[in-house]
Amino acid sequence: MVQTAMAGPTDVIIEVAKVKKYFPVAKGFLTGRAKGNVKAVDGISFKIRRGQTYSLVGESGCGKTTTARMVLLVETPTSGVIKFNNRDLTNSHNMDRREYRTSVQAVFQDPWSSLNPRMRVGPIIMEPLLANRRLSKQEAQEQLETLLQDVGLHPFHADYYPHEFSGGQRQRIAIARSLALRPQVIVLDEPVSALDVSIRAQIMNLFKSLQQRYGMSYLLIAHNLATVRYMSHQVGVMYLGKLVEEAPTRELFTNPKHPYTRALISAALPSHPDIVRDEMVISGEVPSPLSPPSGCAFHPRCPFIMEQCRVQMPELRQVQPEHHVACHLADL
Ligand code: SF4
Repeated sequence: MVQTAMAGPTDVIIEVAKVKKYFPVAKGFLTGRAKGNVKAVDGISFKIRRGQTYSLVGESGCGKTTTARMVLLVETPTSGVIKFNNRDLTNSHNMDRREYRTSVQAVFQDPWSSLNPRMRVGPIIMEPLLANRRLSKQEAQEQLETLLQDVGLHPFHADYYPHEFSGGQRQRIAIARSLALRPQVIVLDEPVSALDVSIRAQIMNLFKSLQQRYGMSYLLIAHNLATVRYMSHQVGVMYLGKLVEEAPTRELFTNPKHPYTRALISAALPSHPDIVRDEMVISGEVPSPLSPPSGCAFHPRCPFIMEQCRVQMPELRQVQPEHHVACHLADL
């Protein structure tokens, strides 16, 4: 199991500080007034360290994918700051953002979405590199062979089309493409959840060995806690757009403090070792982010609810070195 050391400021490659993303809801047909905002992400802060993996977990709709999209500059934060190597991206000029886009790449759940079925694998992998760098033919060929070998494919695979590969191999192609610009950070959005269980471990091991070889950082978005536990150095647990707990991986899984985190972990533990459970199952519905509950947003589902939970929102606060929790129980 990986462990985290205390990080100095230079160890941080991406800092997300008090970031919010609100989506306005369409105006009422009769009144013409905006109905309000969906608070997809509501003031979250975390740091991704150099050469490490930070994971965001939570049920569907908790805001983890919106957060990843902001880190990728696909969405603009409503407020807050995203820093890369201590430079504020939210107020940066185009050159900084262009440089950032080459330094931060992504691998998604479905490799089909990033692989053009009409292109051969070689040009697919090399496309980002050739769009950003001037290379001789021989340099390009050498780079392509290195990238294919990096992900466990052979040079002759460059001439094949994506449909000639298995799902796991297609994900390897997507990974090779994401590596082409030698990024400093890769956002992994559910990178193994569409794959057969039998090959998930291979792809996770590939991510880990690439991280060791090239020192990249990962922002991992995943709902499968086994994946998160295996891959991460630090984990942030999100609920209704907020971080409710954050800790180094081992600490989070052995000493979860927030009732939601505890419920996620116990729901992910199968009653029989042969049962493979992908979805998080917790009693009760996730409330609408359009009208979140008062006080602690988890209170309608929390078995430990107290009076103050209905009216007072708990702040995220430190309970151990590097372990933060937003729950009134932590105050007792
Ligand atoms: Fe449960 Fe209250 Fe803690 Fe919220 S603040 S998780 S309702 S105990």
